[in-house]
Amino acid sequence: MRATPFHTSQHLDDDALESPGDACPACDASHPRRHIAWLQREPDVALLRCDDCGASSASRMPTGAALEAYYARYYVAARDPGPAGDTDPSDGGTASVTFDEPVRFARMLADATPWIHRGALRVLDFGGGDGTLAAAVASELLARGRAAAVDVTIADPTPARPSYDARIVVSSVPSLDDVVGHFDLVIASAILEHIPALGAAARALFARVDPGGAFYARTPYWAPFAALLPHVDLTFPGHVHDLGPEFWNAVTSTFGIPADVAASRPSIVETSLRRAPVRTAAATVLKAPGRLEAALRPGAWRRPLWPWVGGWEVVLRFHGAPERPA
Ligand SMILES: [Zn+2]
Repeated sequence: MRATPFHTSQHLDDDALESPGDACPACDASHPRRHIAWLQREPDVALLRCDDCGASSASRMPTGAALEAYYARYYVAARDPGPAGDTDPSDGGTASVTFDEPVRFARMLADATPWIHRGALRVLDFGGGDGTLAAAVASELLARGRAAAVDVTIADPTPARPSYDARIVVSSVPSLDDVVGHFDLVIASAILEHIPALGAAARALFARVDPGGAFYARTPYWAPFAALLPHVDLTFPGHVHDLGPEFWNAVTSTFGIPADVAASRPSIVETSLRRAPVRTAAATVLKAPGRLEAALRPGAWRRPLWPWVGGWEVVLRFHGAPERPA
């Protein structure tokens, strides 16, 4: 899915929308949720915040058929990239990967998971497109001597590219349901916001992390902007959730998972100065106070003092020791 840029919202008719549910799609709590912003009007779809788990989600989800039609548009767009310089607010705006420089992402993730050190490392990348990002992570961990061989599984309908490094084996399965086994590192970068059944997907991912393993997620965090500026485009139905520290700093208790939050902070800037100088500079400046806050306020706080960061990332460290020797 990451192979396709989702850059615009699309107005959905009533028959393309599920009926509004009472329960939060992340944690299943059925308390009334708070109105944050409108995602569309007539028929109305609101972004609602769950005060239990901190997730903000669409009040009505797109039907499976509506999502299929929406993504089909972008598969066509991805094959025919059209004019250069698209400006998707959250997915990076490139036709191949969401990151301008996968190596920069790989360094960040290697830095954020210093305890990951295995002879044979297993990586799962959910929504990992053609596997470019996960292969870069594998290369970085090999280069740092933190793995001798890496087995990468990509859960994505896009076929994975084969690896040219004999120490990295890349395979792909079409969906999360097809994944078998457990992993030392599970990546869900810029994907959970697209999944209506967020809670089920999160549980399925957490269950795939081996004891002692790591989970990484990156999600849009535009709700603070949307609450103030009614015309901010949250790219519904491409994005059906908005997840910041209110959600991620409580995720271990929300889902009852045996893990600690190893990092929770404004997400890495996904564009590069070289390819998108203005956007990269603006994102870097906006994220700076948030990064400082995350560094100075470790712990399970839910309300950021500086919410104007646009995206959030989390690293979870699962308890226990790996069953296999390092
Ligand atoms: Zn909830």
